[in-house]
Amino acid sequence: MEAILGEGVTLNGFICPGHVATITGSSIFNFIPEKYKIGCVITGFEPTDILQSVLMLIRQVNKKTPSVQIQYNRAVKADGNSVAQKYLSEVFEPCDAYWRGFGVIPLSGLDLRNDFSRYNAEKIIPVRSIHREDNELCICGEILRGLKTPAECPLFANICFPENPIGACMVSNEGSCNTWYKYRLDK
Ligand code: SF4
Repeated sequence: MEAILGEGVTLNGFICPGHVATITGSSIFNFIPEKYKIGCVITGFEPTDILQSVLMLIRQVNKKTPSVQIQYNRAVKADGNSVAQKYLSEVFEPCDAYWRGFGVIPLSGLDLRNDFSRYNAEKIIPVRSIHREDNELCICGEILRGLKTPAECPLFANICFPENPIGACMVSNEGSCNTWYKYRLDK
């Protein structure tokens, strides 16, 4: 989220992930309103959850009171699940991680600790690094960074569509291009 804000994208608020916050608690998002003055609402997954969260964000914007609110209160607490947090920190440690569109962001991922390296597929399975060329016209990276919309891609709905995805954003039904394709008005 900080990497996206670092791109200079103007955002009115964040709909934050409910499942993540079930473990971490809502407090890990406190830095967003404190540092960036942007509101956050931890959200569930049903259509009414999303609608209620948008309304909560609109009220934050209108009242100029950015904060972290929990819409998904049937699962999320401010402090999260302390038992799960304990096991997570026993098994994993922070590591640098690669993010599509952003490159490597320091300490943004989790890796198995040495005590659990016998389960680490990267260490126990001898696979040579696989390099895959992305289509140079695909703008997935800019879309993921909030700089462009799928409609600005020259391949969108042209040669790239769900049955023939050219980039990652079109592959899964959670991808930005896939969703844009499904709900576009000009079909
Ligand atoms: S996934 Fe397809 S439509 Fe989306 S940016 Fe890449 S090529 Fe363009």
